[in-house]
Amino acid sequence: NRRIVLASRPHGEPVAENFRLETAPVPSPSEGQVLARTLWLSLDPYMRGRMNAGKSYAKPVEIGDVMEGGAVGEVISSTSDRFKPGDIVLGHWGWQEYGLADASLLRKVDPAEAPIQTALGVLGMPGMTAYTGLLNIGQPKEGETLVVAAATGPVGATVGQIAKIKGCRTVGIAGGPEKCRALIEEFGFDVAVDHRAPDFPEQLKAACPDGIDIYFENVGGDVWTAVFPLLNDFARIPVCGRVANYSDTELPPGPDRTPQLFGAILTKRFRIQGFIVRDFASQAKDFYREAGAWIREGRIKYREDVVEGLENAPEAFMGLLKGRNFGKLLVKVR
Ligand code: NDP
Repeated sequence: NRRIVLASRPHGEPVAENFRLETAPVPSPSEGQVLARTLWLSLDPYMRGRMNAGKSYAKPVEIGDVMEGGAVGEVISSTSDRFKPGDIVLGHWGWQEYGLADASLLRKVDPAEAPIQTALGVLGMPGMTAYTGLLNIGQPKEGETLVVAAATGPVGATVGQIAKIKGCRTVGIAGGPEKCRALIEEFGFDVAVDHRAPDFPEQLKAACPDGIDIYFENVGGDVWTAVFPLLNDFARIPVCGRVANYSDTELPPGPDRTPQLFGAILTKRFRIQGFIVRDFASQAKDFYREAGAWIREGRIKYREDVVEGLENAPEAFMGLLKGRNFGKLLVKVR
C-alpha cells in the first residue's frame, strides 16, 4: 500500500520535503469494514489547513499520518452486507492506494449516473459547497451582479453557472487569459477578469457598472481588496474560502483596515457569513436532485485537471495553491 504521509509542517507555502512516500502492508477489513482500492484521489485547498498544527474547524493531520482526502475506489473486500467487491464507493481514506473504512462512512457511487470521479467534484463536496453557499447565503435574485474568483475551479465555476440559472449577471475572476477565455466560452460567465492583470482593480470596476450584489468569497487577498469598494448596499458575502491567504505567516503590512470594514458592514448593511459545506448536510438530497439535473441538461459544465500517479500528488497539490490547476484537480491513482 503506497501512501503519502505528512513528513513535516510547512512554514508558508508547502514544499516537497513536507511530504513522504511510504509503503505499508495492505490492511484487511475487520467487522463492518470495507477495503477499497483507490481509483481517484481528490486534491482540495482545505488540505493546506490540515497541514498546520492547532485545531481549526477540523483536526490537523499529525506528522507521520497519511494526508487527508476524499477518494473514489473499488471495493476489494467487505465484511458489511451493504457493499460487495466491485462496488464503487466514495470515502475519505486519504492519499493512499488502499483505503480501509467503516461501511457507515462510505457512499455508493453509481457509474451509470455520471463519471465516477465527479463524486469528488461537481457532483460532490465542491459542487455542494457552491450550491448551498450560494443559495442559502448569497440568495441570488434576477438582475443582480455576482462576482466569484477561482472561477474555473469546481466551486467557482459551479457558483457562476447556478447564479446564471437564477438570472444574475455573472463576473468571473481567474488567473491568466486562457482561464478567462474558458470563463466565457465554457462556463457562460458574462464577463471575465484576470486578477493577474496590472490594472485588475480598474478592470473589475469596469466589469461591474452597477456594483456588486453578491460576492462569493473563495480567495481573499488582492481580489477582496478590489471587490470591497464595489459592494452595493445589502450585498451578501458567503465566505467560503481564502486560498490566497492559506500559507500566510504574518498579517499583511499597512494600516489596520478593520474599522473601515466594520464601518462599511454597518452603513452598507452587508451580510457576511462564513460556512463549511457540512453545515448544510441536510440539503444533500436537494443538491443531488437539482444540480444533478442541471449537469445532465448541460446547464452546469465542469472541467477536470487529471494528474496520473499517486507519487505526483504533492507536486500537484502545491500547484493548486498557486493556480497551476485548470479545473477540478484529481489524481488518477490507477
Ligand atoms: P480551485 O480548483 O479553484 O483551486 C484554487 C484556485 O484558487 C486556483 O486554481 C487559483 O485559480 C486560485 N488562487 C490561488 N491563489 C490565488 C490568489 N492569490 N488570488 C486569486 N486566486 C487565487 O479550488 P476549489 O474550487 O476546490 O475551492 C475554491 C475555494 O473554496 C477555496 O478557497 C476552498 O478552500 C474553498 N472551499 C470551501 C469549502 C467550505 O466548506 N467552506 C468547501 C470546498 C472548498 P486562478 O488561477 O484562477 O487564480
